[in-house]
Amino acid sequence: MFDVLVAGAGIGGLAAALSLHKAGFRVAVREAVPEIRPLGVGINLLPHSVKHLFELGLQPALDASAIRTSELRYYSKHGRLIWREPRGLDAGYRWPQYSIHRGRLQMLLLDAARERLGPDAILTGRAVTDLAEADGRVRVRLRASDGAEGEEEARLLVAADGIHSTIRRTFYPAEGPPIWNGAVLWRGLSEAKPYLDGRTMCMSGHQAQKFVNYPIGPADPASGLAPINWIAELRFDPKNDWRREDWNRAGRIEEFLPRFAGWTFDWLDIPALVRSARAIYEYPMVDRDPLGRWTFGRATLLGDAAHPMYPIGSNGASQAILDARALTAALLAHGPQPAALEQYEAERRPRTSAIVLANRGNGPEQVMQMVEERAPDGFARLEDVIGEAELREVAATYKRLAGFDPSILNGEPAMFA
Ligand SMILES: Cc1cc2nc3c(=O)[nH]c(=O)nc-3n(C[C@H](O)[C@H](O)[C@H](O)COP(=O)(O)OP(=O)(O)OC[C@H]3O[C@@H](n4cnc5c(N)ncnc54)[C@H](O)[C@@H]3O)c2cc1C
Repeated sequence: MFDVLVAGAGIGGLAAALSLHKAGFRVAVREAVPEIRPLGVGINLLPHSVKHLFELGLQPALDASAIRTSELRYYSKHGRLIWREPRGLDAGYRWPQYSIHRGRLQMLLLDAARERLGPDAILTGRAVTDLAEADGRVRVRLRASDGAEGEEEARLLVAADGIHSTIRRTFYPAEGPPIWNGAVLWRGLSEAKPYLDGRTMCMSGHQAQKFVNYPIGPADPASGLAPINWIAELRFDPKNDWRREDWNRAGRIEEFLPRFAGWTFDWLDIPALVRSARAIYEYPMVDRDPLGRWTFGRATLLGDAAHPMYPIGSNGASQAILDARALTAALLAHGPQPAALEQYEAERRPRTSAIVLANRGNGPEQVMQMVEERAPDGFARLEDVIGEAELREVAATYKRLAGFDPSILNGEPAMFA
């Protein structure tokens, strides 16, 4: 019998499987989709999660698939610099920040998991549908892609089945769909000439209209072009409906690009970048309210199933990986028993709930909103609008909250030697 059955082979589920396996537990993963394909566009991995991935021996794979982000910059809607800060190694962390294609990250975790756990440990086309507990084990019901029903047993179930988690619904049947805040994100990937140092993440605008761009790979030596991930964000009335969240829904350029028509800065031509995208996806900005409880006996939630958050502050994937780390530490302390899940939840639920709520208040990007409110028509001198001390405080507060303050993180001990 498995110690742990993980539902969902996304970023969190695979990180948990690799981590628990390395700690010596018998783990299996069951994934709903029949075939895992490298879907999505860019995401970021912050140093606290990279630390764990390095301990899992994934540094070479990450360096081969991602870019080490050097800097983060916030600009006004007129393209004027508000804030810049070094990131990753450049900021004094012992680990880099990576910008990476979400699908490539998932595939590199999947490759490592298949190699280490054995190919049969990870089965696709198996949706977890329900669970029951008896005799010190959890009995998990599964539905195969061909409709066949089955059952498997494990000591524990970890539900890493994403924002539409089935297991979360069994715990909270009345919760309903994710909550939309009125913002819609159009996400794309363009091949374009690198800007600034070729490793910088930029955000321009404010809460109601924002553009984010960052490279997720180096420039191709032949063409000189680099893969640049971008997100255009607009806010509408949340009382109106929007199309349901689906990571792969195609977006329509005419629905957002006209609003960015004048956004041609001396360091980046945003309309040109958008027009050169191979594909555009649309996603409403949704999250869910923090829960009062993740763990029910021998089952718990992890990653987006537990704490879906707005994609602000680059924390979605990183927090799922930190969940995996905390879960592993708890199992090492208690074995595959409910007490381990209680310890994991006690450590992770308050922290991630605070991030969900902070992201509703724009997280570290709040400084862009402050500048917009104080100087909507632009400014001659930034210091007349916002002081250096205020800028520093917003950035530092979020880092402490999200657990990546360098002075704390650098001193934390390794889990795996
Ligand atoms: C296809 C896809 C594309 C994405 N693209 C982006 C992106 O471009 N940018 C971004 O910021 N975030 C993206 N995300 C979300 C991002 O991966 C997560 O926010 C974050 O990494 C946390 O990961 P997670 O493992 O908790 O959830 P996810 O990465 O969403 O993984 C959940 C997994 O559970 C599986 N699953 C669902 N239901 C069941 C079930 N009943 N039984 C078994 N398995 C189940 C899903 O198929 C999926 O593989 C995407 C997610 C998906 C699924």
